[in-house]
Amino acid sequence: MKSGTIGLLILGYDKKRYDKWFDKISFNDLMKEYDTPENIQKVFFEPFMKAGFFADEGEISASFFLELFHFYLSGNIGDFRCYHIGGNPQEKVIEPMMRHFLDRGGRINLGSEIENLMVDGDTVKGVYEKSKEIYVYRYDGGIHIIKNDPVEKSVSSKKILLQDIPEDDYIKADLEGDQTIFIGFFGGEVIAVSGECTHAGCSLNWDSVKRRFLCPCHGGQFSEDGGVLNGPPQNPLKIFKVNGKSLESQIVQSAVYNGDYFIIAADMPGIKRISSNMIKNSDAEKRGEFERILKLKTNTCIVVRIWFNKSTKPDRNPVGFVSSYKYITVYLILSRLNEDIKECSKITGLHCIEFIISGASELTDISDEGLLKVISPEIGGLFPELRDAGMIDHSFMRHDNYTFFNKGSLNLRPPVQSVFKNLFYTGDWVYTDIPVFFMEKAVITAKIAANYILSHEGAMPNNIYSPNSRGILSWT
Ligand SMILES: Cc1cc2nc3c(=O)[nH]c(=O)nc-3n(C[C@H](O)[C@H](O)[C@H](O)COP(=O)(O)OP(=O)(O)OC[C@H]3O[C@@H](n4cnc5c(N)ncnc54)[C@H](O)[C@@H]3O)c2cc1C
Repeated sequence: MKSGTIGLLILGYDKKRYDKWFDKISFNDLMKEYDTPENIQKVFFEPFMKAGFFADEGEISASFFLELFHFYLSGNIGDFRCYHIGGNPQEKVIEPMMRHFLDRGGRINLGSEIENLMVDGDTVKGVYEKSKEIYVYRYDGGIHIIKNDPVEKSVSSKKILLQDIPEDDYIKADLEGDQTIFIGFFGGEVIAVSGECTHAGCSLNWDSVKRRFLCPCHGGQFSEDGGVLNGPPQNPLKIFKVNGKSLESQIVQSAVYNGDYFIIAADMPGIKRISSNMIKNSDAEKRGEFERILKLKTNTCIVVRIWFNKSTKPDRNPVGFVSSYKYITVYLILSRLNEDIKECSKITGLHCIEFIISGASELTDISDEGLLKVISPEIGGLFPELRDAGMIDHSFMRHDNYTFFNKGSLNLRPPVQSVFKNLFYTGDWVYTDIPVFFMEKAVITAKIAANYILSHEGAMPNNIYSPNSRGILSWT
């Protein structure tokens, strides 16, 4: 190969072919194979690659690098629209979107963590929320049901008066988050029974004539003391005597949300948690998808914001992609870029710079102070004028869920349509035919998922504006 061919390769981008050809090799292999001059690699391609992937050049898939380059620099033209959000995303995007749902009768349950799917053949019937602890106590003339939500870090409670519990019978208590438990009064003793079917987690009903708990989903039936009588459940219901303030009355339950369609918009750790539960209850054909997802990886990126008592030189570029240092990959002079911080700098006379540190898995367990020590020489190298400046304040954000676009991972990524007909994946880790990345990938995959649902319902899908999947020199 002659130098310059890397330019032709980029301009001849063709997603279908390049996905097939280049995922097995790394960014470094690509640079070598296409004889890229070292200075061009170091000054031009490497900072771009590192600023996008926050990872080591020897590990990143060449096909993802070519796609990223094409998306940002050659393909993001024509009718693809990229709107800049000038302001606070919470106010500009999140709150209007939430109002839109709520005004149309939707429900938003913030802080719920989904950990498993309830499936029936090819269809997902519901999603399970992460288990919540329910404690049942008897005191002060009543039964107190206390729900501890480890995700929301909240506690809710409900009181049932003893006189309201029928003798030799059960009363149903619906808790927040679609959970149910039953409280019974038998021979002077109070009994608490989990109202969650042990087969697929549906909420049970108590039939006081037939003296059994009935599951509306798959016909499971349980006796009044929780034993399995009929249907698919294998395990009895959890049942406790409520004698007083005793931990014996703890019931661990997870809420189930039922629906017609499900879109999982989780990050890598979230989808991997769901997948590790799903491989236990999926058939061989469907299990493959979850096994592949479990092989996907994340990497760590750390964002450090530092307030200096001295300003950078006025001719400094406010954004810098850096390739010559081990840790710092990007810097942003926020005192010049962000309106709120500009204002704050004017008042305090301090100068704020953000540094993004990548490929930093080895720094995961290091303290904030230790990390500052490690990156200080790099800051001094980038900004010699700040070597004698004081660091007045600093804050750290550690992201260990950053999607890793490592070589050999392309075929592990599922498409938006999952192996279940009413379940869709969205996020920057999902595979699409469209060359997009990061936030745009999250948006595009969400639009594709929405279009699948519209088509299932017989409605017209919406247009999706996307960059070209081919470069201007691609052949055929
Ligand atoms: C420092 C930094 C700078 C970046 N800069 C840019 C940039 O300039 N441009 C750009 O396009 N991209 C940028 N990105 C990348 C961008 O943030 C991501 O690509 C994008 O957020 C991915 O969106 P997502 O919806 O796939 O995942 P996320 O935004 O990670 O959202 C997933 C959500 O799912 C939740 N979740 C996880 N598991 C569960 C579960 N089991 N149940 C319920 N909820 C769950 C998580 O809490 C999270 O809120 C940057 C990222 C970082 C860290």
